[in-house]
Amino acid sequence: MWPALGDACASAASMSANLLLSSGALAEWWPWLSWRVPSVSVALIAVYYGAAALLVCVPLSKLRRRIAIGAAAAALTVTLWAPDLPRHRPPAGHLRISVIDVGQGDAILVQSPFGQALLVDAGGGPGSYDIGTRVVTPAVWSLGDRTLTWLAVTHGDRDHAGGAAGVADDLDPREIWEGVTVRSAPDVARLRQLATARGIVWRSLRAGAHVAIGSLEVDAIHPPEPEWERPKVRNDDSLVLRIRYGRVDAVLTGDAGAEFEHRLPPDLGASPIRILKAGHHGSRTSTSDLLIRAMRPQVALISVGRGNLFGHPSADVNRPARSRGRGVFRTDRDGAISVETDGVTVWILTALGRRLTMVSSPPL
Ligand SMILES: [Zn+2]
Repeated sequence: MWPALGDACASAASMSANLLLSSGALAEWWPWLSWRVPSVSVALIAVYYGAAALLVCVPLSKLRRRIAIGAAAAALTVTLWAPDLPRHRPPAGHLRISVIDVGQGDAILVQSPFGQALLVDAGGGPGSYDIGTRVVTPAVWSLGDRTLTWLAVTHGDRDHAGGAAGVADDLDPREIWEGVTVRSAPDVARLRQLATARGIVWRSLRAGAHVAIGSLEVDAIHPPEPEWERPKVRNDDSLVLRIRYGRVDAVLTGDAGAEFEHRLPPDLGASPIRILKAGHHGSRTSTSDLLIRAMRPQVALISVGRGNLFGHPSADVNRPARSRGRGVFRTDRDGAISVETDGVTVWILTALGRRLTMVSSPPL
């Protein structure tokens, strides 16, 4: 009806929106303005804002005012300090493996029954969005850990290593593990710089490396010592870890494919209960029939982005795993996947509520 007025209104709205958006950048100029905290309960948020609203909107007596200030301060302290965080760790004696939903990529948190936390890969994607600090760190917090004992980067591809530096900055791992060193991999180089600056121990793991914590055993079963210097990152150089607890074992394969398959360790026979994190997001080349036959997993976990451009996972991967085992769990359909075990029974629960319980029968 009156274009000039329309223009003026639109300009005012646009300017206000821009101001509002750029006010978020204040936190980058003065980092102390923002404090990242683990997610808190709705009850705590209600107490804080309820008390704040009372203080601002309602005339209160001196005593009620003090009570409201006390309630808001208590809620704020609990939010910043998060004393209940360790309550979200697995119960005593339980191992928990959580496949965090990072879209197309891998990030798997292994929480030992004895208090240690190992993060295998930290997701990552194209663009400036840091999935490590924005998704993986909050997920680790909500699973009950403030710090990591170990951060393992299976290989240098962006979808595994992209979030690693951010996560290491947030969660201060005691050690960082890598597979084959590739000098040209930018995400690993950034991580290495941070490790040097922070004095974090850096280890290159090869097949045969072994860590035992009580009755939990973590073994590197791939890659072997490389015979030539790698000019670029290869999926087949992925660090593959086997985690054994009681009668349950889990094999986390990174993106390893044919080369790993042809070098399976001889003692990798069938386990009473075996969980396989399928290699390379369930691609045809990484989880072949041969591998499934050799490893005989009851359950396959696939970390994969919905509608990804690579066509992962391959239909072939779903089929053999399903016919020999108890199920295939995929982050694109199930959301995050939690596998918990006391060494005998395995409980699997997904973010969307799919459940599976398996009990290993005792040896005859
Ligand atoms: Zn990958």
